[in-house]
This record gives sequence, structure tokens and C-alpha cells, in this order.
Amino acid sequence: MRNLVLLSFSCAMLGSAIFPAPGAETQTQPRLKVLIVDGQNNHGWQQTTPILKAALESAGIFSVDVATSPATGKSLAGFKPDFAKYRVIVSNYNGEDWPEPTRLAFEDYVKSGGGLVIIHAADNAFPKWVEYNRMIAVGGWGGRNDQSGPMLRWRDGQVVRDLRGGGGTHGKFFAFVVETRDPNHPITQGLPEKWLHAPDELYATLCGPAENVTVLATAQSDATHQQEPTLMAIRYGQGRVFHTVLGHNEESMRDVGFVVTLDRGTEWAATGSVTQKVPENFPTADKVSPWSPPTSK
Ligand code: ZN
Repeated sequence: MRNLVLLSFSCAMLGSAIFPAPGAETQTQPRLKVLIVDGQNNHGWQQTTPILKAALESAGIFSVDVATSPATGKSLAGFKPDFAKYRVIVSNYNGEDWPEPTRLAFEDYVKSGGGLVIIHAADNAFPKWVEYNRMIAVGGWGGRNDQSGPMLRWRDGQVVRDLRGGGGTHGKFFAFVVETRDPNHPITQGLPEKWLHAPDELYATLCGPAENVTVLATAQSDATHQQEPTLMAIRYGQGRVFHTVLGHNEESMRDVGFVVTLDRGTEWAATGSVTQKVPENFPTADKVSPWSPPTSK
């Protein structure tokens, strides 16, 4: 039954956004449907989801809905977002386990080609959910440890898998330089080699299955003094996952670097390519570029 539903979803997608008419203008193309999932998080999702929504809408290619789960301690039995209606799910959720039918629907959705974007503490969620951990490559806290899989480290010009000491930590809230490590990926193509990110909480020692993952960018942790992965692209089945560890709070998100990488990563997760240009006000190696939502749309 589930396969039938997904088949009809796939056909609907083929008929619209995947193959726009040749020469069609951006404005006439159907917008890519995005679903932000929130409702539980040890971070201020009530403040950050509106910024994520505005940031995505500012790209001009997305239409954005939000699915908010019941609050912590309330039954999640009825929480069944219709994932298949969307090209990409953006998770701002770090809370209690979803009911099994919702988890299975989510697995089928990504496995069969749906996009997924993981924002900051969403990689703390669902430590025991095997398939979720494969989707996000690495995560932190919730009992994750050496047994969960390796950490990803950038050393001597390459990604190294480090099996000892994983579990999740961070240093102080500070502005740090993000370094592009794969300049040829659609998400990072055209970004500067180094850019200064607004104050944020830089995750370190994340660990997990780390399968089919491309480390797009890293940053030097003040906690581990290692180059920790900050932007990642993951393949899971037919699906694409963009994982940004950035975005602790509103200040961290009101940053052109955060917004541009979010929008590019979300488009890639949805379609496999990126049509957006890198704006001239993208941050430089020594200057943060504050972002605020467009005043008129
Ligand atoms: Zn945080």
C-alpha cells in the first residue's frame, strides 16, 4: 500500500518540477514544496522556524509549510505529516520518538528520493533510530558514543574517520571561519574558500554510520582543536540529505552564510542541482555578513 502511494507521488513530481518546460522562466516554474518539521527541541524552535521559513522563501524558488508536533509529554500518535506531498523536509526537530508508522513513512520518503535537510540540533534527535542515523551520517548526544560509529575529521587535505571519542560536544558561542572543502559540489560551488560565520555553537565529536557522506565544509573547534564537519551532503537510497550543524539560535541564523548555504542545500536535497547564484554580500574570511528578511515580497 505504501509503495502505491509513493508511486503516485513520484509520477506527480515527474510531471511538474523535475522536468520544467525548456526555457521556462524561474517565476513560471512550480515552487519546490518544502515542509519544516518542528514542535520539540531543546533549542528555541518557536523563534528559529520563522527565520528558516523566511530564509527559504527569500530564495524565490520554495513554498514552505510547517508541521508542528504535539509538545513534549503529549501523545505523538496522531503526528503523521504527509511527507510525500513535499520535495524536501527540513528538520528543526529534536524531541521524542515519532510513532512507528510516521518513522516508516519518513524512511520510505527519503529512500525513494525525497530530500531532507538537518538543522543543528536535529542531529541530536532519534539516537536509537538506525535508519535516521544513516540519513544524517553523524550526530551527537542522546547516548551516542564510540559504538555509534566514527567521527569525521579533516586532516592533511582529506576526510579521516576517527573511531575514538565520539558522542557530541561544543565549545563556547563564537564567530568562526567555515572552510569549504569540496568546491565542486553543487551546494558549495562558487562559495569562497573561507568565510566568517556569525556567532554560533560549533558542534564537535559528532559520530555515526558516516555512510555515503561528502564533507562540504569544516570549521576549527575551540573544544577539540580539530577541523569538524559543518556542512555535509549524504546519499540515502535515492534520497539526498543536506546536513548543516550551523544554526544554534536566531543570531546564528541571521547570517548570509547560513541562509545561502541553507537555501542551496535545500535546493540540492530537493532536485540534485543548485540554480541560485552566490550573492555579492556573501561573508568574507574576516567579515560576517548579517542577514535580515526582505521587507517586501
Ligand atoms: Zn545549539
